[in-house]
Amino acid sequence: KAYKDRSKEELLTLKNELEAEYKKFQEMGLKLDMSRGKPSAEQLDISMGMMDVLNSSTDLKCREGIDCRNYGVIDGIQEAKELLADLIEVPADKIIIYGNSSLNVMYDTVARSMTHGVMGSTPWCKLDKVKFLCPVPGYDRHFAITEYFGIEMVNVPMTPEGPDMDMVEKLVSEDAAIKGIWCVPKYSNPQGITYSDETVRRFANLKPAAEDFRIYWDNAYNVHHLYEDDQDNILEILSECEKAGNPDMVYKFSSTSKISFPGSGVAAISASYNNLKDIKKQMSIQTIGHDKLNQLRHVRYFKNLDGIKVHMMKHAAIMRPKFEAVLDILEEELGGLEIGSWLKPKGGYFISFDALEGCAKAIVAKAKEAGVVMTGAGATYPYGKDPQDSNIRIAPSFPPMEELIQATRLFVLCVKLVSVDKLLESK
Ligand code: PMP
Repeated sequence: KAYKDRSKEELLTLKNELEAEYKKFQEMGLKLDMSRGKPSAEQLDISMGMMDVLNSSTDLKCREGIDCRNYGVIDGIQEAKELLADLIEVPADKIIIYGNSSLNVMYDTVARSMTHGVMGSTPWCKLDKVKFLCPVPGYDRHFAITEYFGIEMVNVPMTPEGPDMDMVEKLVSEDAAIKGIWCVPKYSNPQGITYSDETVRRFANLKPAAEDFRIYWDNAYNVHHLYEDDQDNILEILSECEKAGNPDMVYKFSSTSKISFPGSGVAAISASYNNLKDIKKQMSIQTIGHDKLNQLRHVRYFKNLDGIKVHMMKHAAIMRPKFEAVLDILEEELGGLEIGSWLKPKGGYFISFDALEGCAKAIVAKAKEAGVVMTGAGATYPYGKDPQDSNIRIAPSFPPMEELIQATRLFVLCVKLVSVDKLLESK
């Protein structure tokens, strides 16, 4: 029976039972971490072959004959460009290869716009106000970048098709202070939502009031499927923007972080020639070149997109049972109680849980008291402020299976406990 339909007496009895159960968890002295979307050690192990492709007797010249040990090649070796371009479905001449982190590329992109503007427009730091649209719930580190630069963040609700496009179109066309929007278009962080074709087309056809408005298209989970035969696909945004007569309106970010090693992957940006020219001006001051040996290592290990796809199915074989374990427990323990809702993603790294309004902080705190660290409640919103105090991000990837099951069981117990308290307040 749904909690809301239970009498005060029923809820009080239930509360006693739940508290006894919670005590047992506390006595176990758990120390579990479900806070970040990190691959497990087991997942890192499947890329270990990458450590063997380069050694002291390997020919370390790239295809163009350049010695990768030395300085040079500012925007990436050709074969790395081709591999990453195939991965993100763009031509190899529309890509720049960076270092190990796409987040770093995004930070750099915002920083450059602040100090030097976008393709000749006024640097954002000279403007009274700069705003970014933030689909919510979203990725906390995106929001942290814009907050760091004092950019005002405006929440846009997510729908099952992607951000609320009526709202995006309206705001972007009316307000020239809006310079960007953070997007995770495939298996979004944290909901695992993939933007529909219509959403992508509406993005490509935006008519921004600001000429330096850019879509920050963070394709972090491009090939991160859980299933071999049931995968989401999205329209390619660069070509859609070209078709719509908006070729310069988008930056597409990507990396191999959760394909190979998060600490030592290869990151890239793709954009129009005009944008890339603008970016390279900064880059040529910033560095003499990124890590070409790592680029070479990735190319020689994966060989091509098919190599990556086969590799991703090894990740899926490890991730899928973890997602299913969490989703089964949620359904088994919370199904029909009407104290929470969640989506069933087909890829990505997270499960997004919406508790009753006003309960998320208390649930996360309660889990922590019993030794399970979750992503902080509110983290999925700009400024760490979830107006409904309802969203919690579950990251199933890192803990080993046994621990994940224990942590999820404790989590659902905390959801029940806090919900009962909340409902008793109004009885
Ligand atoms: N974008 C999103 C949406 C992510 O979830 C993450 C990692 N959690 C990143 C970017 C970070 O990528 P990188 O390791 O390439 O900096």
